[in-house]
Amino acid sequence: MNTKYIFVTGGVTSSLGKGIISSSLAKLLRARGFTVTIQKLDPYINIDPGTLNPYEHGECYVTEDGAETDLDLGHYERFTNVPTSQANNVTTGRIYLSVIEKERRGDFLGETVQVIPHITDEIKHRIKILGTESKFDFVITEIGGTVGDIESLPYIEAVRQMRWEMGSNCVVIHLTYVPYLAAAGELKTKPTQHSVKMMLEQGVQPDIIVCRCERPLNDGIKNKIALFCNVDPLCVIESIDAKTIYDVPVLMREQQLDIQVLNKVKVPVEGIPDLTKWEDFLYKLKHPNNEVTIGLVGKYVELKDAYKSITESFVHASGSLQCKVNVKMIHSEGINDETVNEKLKGLNGILVAPGFGERGIEGKITAIKYARENNVPFLGICLGMQCAVVEFGRNVLGLTDAHSTEMNPKTKYPVIDIMEDQKSVCKKGGTMRLGAYPCVLTNGSKAKSIYQATDITERHRHRYEFNNEYKQMYEDAGMIAAGINPKDNLVEIVELIDHPWFVGVQFHPEYKSTVVNPHPLFLNFVKAAIENQNKG
Ligand code: GLN
Repeated sequence: MNTKYIFVTGGVTSSLGKGIISSSLAKLLRARGFTVTIQKLDPYINIDPGTLNPYEHGECYVTEDGAETDLDLGHYERFTNVPTSQANNVTTGRIYLSVIEKERRGDFLGETVQVIPHITDEIKHRIKILGTESKFDFVITEIGGTVGDIESLPYIEAVRQMRWEMGSNCVVIHLTYVPYLAAAGELKTKPTQHSVKMMLEQGVQPDIIVCRCERPLNDGIKNKIALFCNVDPLCVIESIDAKTIYDVPVLMREQQLDIQVLNKVKVPVEGIPDLTKWEDFLYKLKHPNNEVTIGLVGKYVELKDAYKSITESFVHASGSLQCKVNVKMIHSEGINDETVNEKLKGLNGILVAPGFGERGIEGKITAIKYARENNVPFLGICLGMQCAVVEFGRNVLGLTDAHSTEMNPKTKYPVIDIMEDQKSVCKKGGTMRLGAYPCVLTNGSKAKSIYQATDITERHRHRYEFNNEYKQMYEDAGMIAAGINPKDNLVEIVELIDHPWFVGVQFHPEYKSTVVNPHPLFLNFVKAAIENQNKG
């Protein structure tokens, strides 16, 4: 079958959950046996979100091929269990960069280079490449931002052109908001009408309107939206607030979003998507047999999305183990020798988060000392692993003021140091050690028994690493290298032999955890937290 292109646009306000709707639709289409990929087009001028801080853009997600991407790609992978790549996230910056590079090369000699057709052609090329080269049955393209934003105009224009060129091989889903006005006691359709009018001004008629709402849409409201927005009433889909984002595929199946899409692109509808395993996960998630509390120590704890993949990995583990996992966010800047007992007491596990820079670092190190000395299960991720190495150096090996050279370039004991091939790097964008690298697990290590494998690959995003000059000293004192990169000999995992569960990983396991395949490290960490709970 020819690739079908599905566009998802947003109206009225941001944060309505285009990523979750796209992911849920992909899940349903996959359950029907189609191959599907999801792409995010981001209208900002950064080449990628790798240089944005979490206050700007939440978590930066990393793909197998080392692309630093929007966090929505994390949702795509968590829902569909299909890896994404650089091609799945394109920004305005990347579009302009390649058009300008072509102009300098002389590809457009003689022409005036313009938004239409050059920029829109580049956008269309980036969309179609997933259909023509990767040959997916469905390419779902989510357009970032809200219709009416100046910066999303070229994207909507590209959608208009593709629609014109490809007819029924394209379908446009518009996600809007239908607010409930308590004073009037009514749901209001006017914002939806306005945002659809705005799309019409730009030449695009949505085929399907998904309405995010806090109260159910009755038939009267659906008919009204259908009439004012020129769509079939069956194509007005209710997307009511759900308990968990993982309910949304089931809700979209009830609302027949997948069926309406298939009708529009003229693909025969056969049977209903089987979500038995997914529903089993949801049942276990909602009916836990026990409950643990894990402290997540980081410096962006007030931001909901800064540690998105980590908190979602706990949800996957929770559904798999039928155990409620409360993730308590703890600000590392508030932890010191005086406050540590009070801040961390009663936790069944402590996770020290990834990060960059000096702020809050001593609090992280103090939290790790507490976990180590009190036998509390500990998982350190990237910077969290590096802090565990620093803590052990200072407090067990007696290396006073040991540090990472990221925080203290003059430290006498650089137990974490810049990687050799990073020393010559000056440019900041896309230059870290990024993406999947192999790792060989050490015989007899906890890591090996957790993964039940010797060779694994995990995704990375860092510039600093364990300094191998100290390796023997650490191993002799009980902190062992449990995973090594076979090519560069980098230490990728450390663990304590004399502790119930103390693991630090230089990579990011959270990027690979999905509903169908919860990550073994998170599963085992939560199991260790349950044991800690049982011991009281
Ligand atoms: N700042 C550290 C490094 O660059 C850790 C990075 C991270 O936690 N992702 O190595």
